[in-house]
Amino acid sequence: TYTLGPKIANWNQERKVWLDQNPQFPNYINKRARILLVTGSPPKPCDNAIGDHYLLKAIKNKIDYCRLHGIEIVYNLAHLDKELAGYWAKLPLIRRLMLSHPEVEWIWWMDSDALFTDMVFEIPLDKYDNYNLVVHGYPDLMFDQKSWIALNTGSFLFRNCQWSLDLLDAWAPMGPKGPIREEAGKILTAYLKGRPAFEADDQSALIYLLLSQKDQWMDKVFLENSYYLHGYWAGLVDRYEEMIEKYHPGLGDERWPFVTHFVGCKPCGSYGDYPVERCLSSMERAFNFADNQVLKLYGFGHRGLLSPKIKRIRNETATPLELVDQNDIRRHVLHRN
Ligand code: UDP
Ligand code: MN
Repeated sequence: TYTLGPKIANWNQERKVWLDQNPQFPNYINKRARILLVTGSPPKPCDNAIGDHYLLKAIKNKIDYCRLHGIEIVYNLAHLDKELAGYWAKLPLIRRLMLSHPEVEWIWWMDSDALFTDMVFEIPLDKYDNYNLVVHGYPDLMFDQKSWIALNTGSFLFRNCQWSLDLLDAWAPMGPKGPIREEAGKILTAYLKGRPAFEADDQSALIYLLLSQKDQWMDKVFLENSYYLHGYWAGLVDRYEEMIEKYHPGLGDERWPFVTHFVGCKPCGSYGDYPVERCLSSMERAFNFADNQVLKLYGFGHRGLLSPKIKRIRNETATPLELVDQNDIRRHVLHRN
């Protein structure tokens, strides 16, 4: 059967030796785990030019978040393994980055169509000390209902360790393009509640793996739903004004969602589950909602959630440092240490 590469069996030990020998590349800096955020898009232009524009906005949004929170970022445009093209491309990529960056403690995959919408919130990593995979999901949807949306693979974190390499190996075999992926799709549709008939996708395959080998994997998997590591866009984008009125960034949950993910939209492809216009205007709103939190540091804001135009939100001053203390998102990070 298909494999991601040569079997690696002793990664924890080898990585530990490497870390000991390379103290200039520590996996923890000031007691904070080093995180690498990974995202990407297909190697070719989108079917429609507007799709490429939204890919640009989406990466700008991620660069802003990562810069403000000291997270490194990779944007991938290659298919490292042509068998695993499309949504499966993240698997060989995550494996490659784990092995090439032993200094990274957590690899955080985020889809191109997911935007940070809370620029202040931070992942509560301490909570995951005893876990190796953190993914947004609901145990009841998973184990009681076997739902195909019990978890979402648009935004998740993997610890750089042997367990994660093993999980990737167990996850990949349904991925190869062609008859394998087609046949696997039938098994997944028969097994998972609510799944339409189509080829095997990475999300369904992960749910299937965790359900069918629960005892082997679940003790190291954290199904997170106390904040939106992934947040389904349709229930969120129409409520941004209400959120602005009632709440503030930093909450990360339904009051101010950490991530808004445009599941089913496919602005870079040809066919999505929703009208293109609704997707694009919703993405524009999410982008500007987030960008307002960034522009605020510099004294600007969008004229409206649908407007790329900006306006000044305060006057220039001769005492700029006072405003730094008031407005800099990074001070939240400093306070925490
Ligand atoms: N992706 C990629 N290369 C590809 C196709 C997809 O890197 O050739 C990434 C991209 O970030 C995308 C994610 O995989 O958001 C998931 O794939 P897709 O968009 O098809 O699924 P969706 O997010 O719509 O469920
Ligand atoms: Mn997506």
